[in-house]
Formats: sequence, C-alpha cells, structure tokens
Amino acid sequence: MKKIVILGGGESGVGAAILAKKKGFEVFLSDLSEIKPQYQQLLLENGISWEEKKHTEMMILDADEVIKSPGIPEKAPIIKKLHEQTTPVISEIEFAGRYTGSKMICITGSNGKTTTTMLIYHILKNAGLNVGLAGNVGQSLALQVANDPHDYYVVELSSFQLDGMFQFKADIAILLNITPDHLDRYEYKFQNYIDSKFRITQNQTENETFIFWENDPVIKTELAKRNIQSSMYPFALERTEKTKAFIKNNELIIKTLNTFFTMPTTDLALQGIHNTYNSMAAGLAATVVNVKKENIRESLQDFQGVEHRLEYVATVRNVRFINDSKATNVNSCWYALQSISTPIVLILGGTDKGNDYSEIEELVNKKVKGLIFMGLNNTPLHNYFDGKINNIFDVQSMQDAVNEAYKLSSDGDTVLLSPCCASFDLFQNYEDRGRQFKNCVRKL
Ligand code: ADP
Repeated sequence: MKKIVILGGGESGVGAAILAKKKGFEVFLSDLSEIKPQYQQLLLENGISWEEKKHTEMMILDADEVIKSPGIPEKAPIIKKLHEQTTPVISEIEFAGRYTGSKMICITGSNGKTTTTMLIYHILKNAGLNVGLAGNVGQSLALQVANDPHDYYVVELSSFQLDGMFQFKADIAILLNITPDHLDRYEYKFQNYIDSKFRITQNQTENETFIFWENDPVIKTELAKRNIQSSMYPFALERTEKTKAFIKNNELIIKTLNTFFTMPTTDLALQGIHNTYNSMAAGLAATVVNVKKENIRESLQDFQGVEHRLEYVATVRNVRFINDSKATNVNSCWYALQSISTPIVLILGGTDKGNDYSEIEELVNKKVKGLIFMGLNNTPLHNYFDGKINNIFDVQSMQDAVNEAYKLSSDGDTVLLSPCCASFDLFQNYEDRGRQFKNCVRKL
C-alpha cells in the first residue's frame, strides 16, 4: 500500500490526512510543534496515526509521497533529507486537486489575496452557486473534497503552497500583483519568488483563464518572457486594446466577448485603488463563470470587507481609527496611505523583513503628521525616518501606541495602524495585533 506522510498538523495537514485515509493510503502525520486539541480529535476519529513535538525520521523517510504544510520551509532538515532521497514533496492543494473535477478559482499575489478570495466567494455564493472557500482561508480543500464536495472552489494560494504544486491546474488563475515579500524563504532572490507566483498558470491551456493586473511592472516583464497559453483577462485602471476590466468616467467596466458590465466606482463596497483592482479581478472571475450582472453588482456593493484590512474601527472626537494590521509589508501600507485623504498619524513597526521604506516616503511626507514606532527593535525605522519627520514616538505596547497617536491627532485626522512589518515581536499574530488595537481604541 502506498505510504503517505503528512508534515504539519494544522488545517491543511489534517484535511490532507483525512482525504488520504479515505482514498485508502497508509497515512502518518507528524508535527514538530503541538497539535491543537480539535485537530487531535479529528485524527483520532479518523483512525490516523500521528505524532507531535517530534519528527521520527524512520517513519517519514519511508514515505512514498509527502504532503508538506506551507509553513514548513524548504530548508528544514527533514525536507532536505526527503529531497536528497528524491521523495516527492507536494502541497495539500496538489493532493486534493487529484480527487476532484470541480472548478478551481485560484488567487495569488503579494497583496490582496484574502480580500479578493472572500469577495469572489461572496459573489458566487450570493448567486446561488455551490461554492467552497479554501486555501489560506476557510476550510482545508482536501477536507471539503473528502467530506463535503462543492461544484466550485475559491482558493487562496500563497507562494509556499504554489511551490508544492505540479500537476494541479487552475480553471481560473488570478495574479493580483508581485512585490518583494518573504525573500528569506527564496534565497533572497526576487526572481525565485516571482517564479513561484507564476506557478498559478502552470498546466493552463487556452481553455483556462488567467486574470492579472496588466500594469504590474513585474508581471509585464514576465509575460514578455513566458509563453503562456491561457485565455488572458487583464485588468487595469486605463484600457488598452487587451484590457477586459477597467475604469472609465468613474465607472468600473467589464468588457469581454459576451459581457458588457458597468457600475459606478462610488457604489463599490471596498474603497481605495487597491480595492478597485480587487473588485475588477473578482468581477472578471464571476463573469467567466457566468454569474448574472445584477448579482455581481449587488455583491460588489454589499460586501462587508475583511477584518484587519483597512477596517474602520471607530471615530473618537472626530478622529477616525483604521485597523490595517494585515499590512505586513511596505506596499500594502502605501495603498492604505493612498486611500486616506485626511492628515494621518501612522502606527508602524514590528518584525522588519528587510523593508525598504522609500516606497512610502513621499506619501508619509505629504500626509503623515506623526509616526509611532511600535516594535521591540525600532532602529531600522529610525535609520530611515529620523530627520525626515518631526513627530516620532517609540512605544512597546498597543496601549501606548493608541494613547500617543490619540494625543498627536486633532479634529478630522485619521489614526492608521498599518505596520509594514510582521507582528511576532510583541503580538501572537496580526489578528492579535489588530484586536488589541480595536480594544484600546474602544476604551478611549
Ligand atoms: P493577502 O491575503 O495577500 O495578505 P489581504 O487581502 O489580506 O492580502 O490584504 C493585505 C494588506 O494589503 C491589507 O493591508 C490590504 O489593505 C492591502 N491590500 C489589499 N488589496 C491590495 C492590492 N490589490 N494591492 C496592494 N495592497 C492591497
């Protein structure tokens, strides 16, 4: 019997284990950390053998195939050993893809994945389609394929998931943008990260759809180098002869062979240019699966947004507070600053991944009246901003950050948490950071 080993006992790993077991494989799951009780329970219920807080090499190296959680880096010793002995290492999505013929709508990009994924899911669900949400958000794809199959899946894919995908084919692939991120996992070579993102188009033929941002400089360069066969659906603010979604006279327009869709941009639930791109991408995907125009319009209008992404928190004495805790790189902070028209007090900082702040310098000069550096090590921020901005404060807790920001702000200003950095120095994760921000604001 073929032996499958699963590394990582989180949502994707446990889902993969259950599907593998159902398909009759011999399954063993191993996790170097603790496995959450709810997942232990699932493993138990499904009769799957597992271990935690260790990797028993004898068991793992004996596998015919390994399904690796996207969180485990290629340079982990156990992965290196598997590669040395040429054991195939794949991702949960690759594995699940073998056992379903459902339509796959897959979203990647450096920023905007979750927002666009949730937006597409919202449109398809409202249109009455039988659709599942998977990948980085929602339930494991493998688990849904095993226990609760859907006709359509909307799948958020990170570069780490894409790295473990080989035969999988997206029916609709969406590439929102590419800016440097996670370079620590790509030997500090931007090209490696770009190649990973482009795996979203692999195995596509002219029967499948590729939706992408036409004016992304990186995507443009890559398209000129690659011979992509997919049916192309570019979106951009300004139309060229190829553009299928664009803005004209403040209307979002989708123009394909069979569709002509228009909607005032002021009616879009998600505001800001970056979100206009996300709405165009989502509208195109919905058009390709033949969702009716009225349904697309309605859903783009009533979408509630996603927590921690430019999320409005409250207005306290006419100061607006915005939680953009998910802005873990400089590019997403740029879009946040860009979308706000009042003077801004910006809270940023955390674990710096080698950030280049020059991308936001112009907007900071133009709009920001004070910077609050919130991190264990604020040196990189000081090195960049000292002497350029007058009001700079160092804090090491959310409570102090919110208090300082509030003191600095005046009538009509916006306090924005958009950290450009990961959160692991002071918080459990970006959700914890965002929630603490909201709690502190509500106590003001
Ligand atoms: P991801 O899942 O790719 O991290 P999210 O939808 O969670 O993307 O958004 C992450 C951050 O990027 C948020 O700060 C959000 O406001 C910002 N953002 C959303 N869409 C875009 C986009 N298309 N381009 C740039 N930034 C974006």
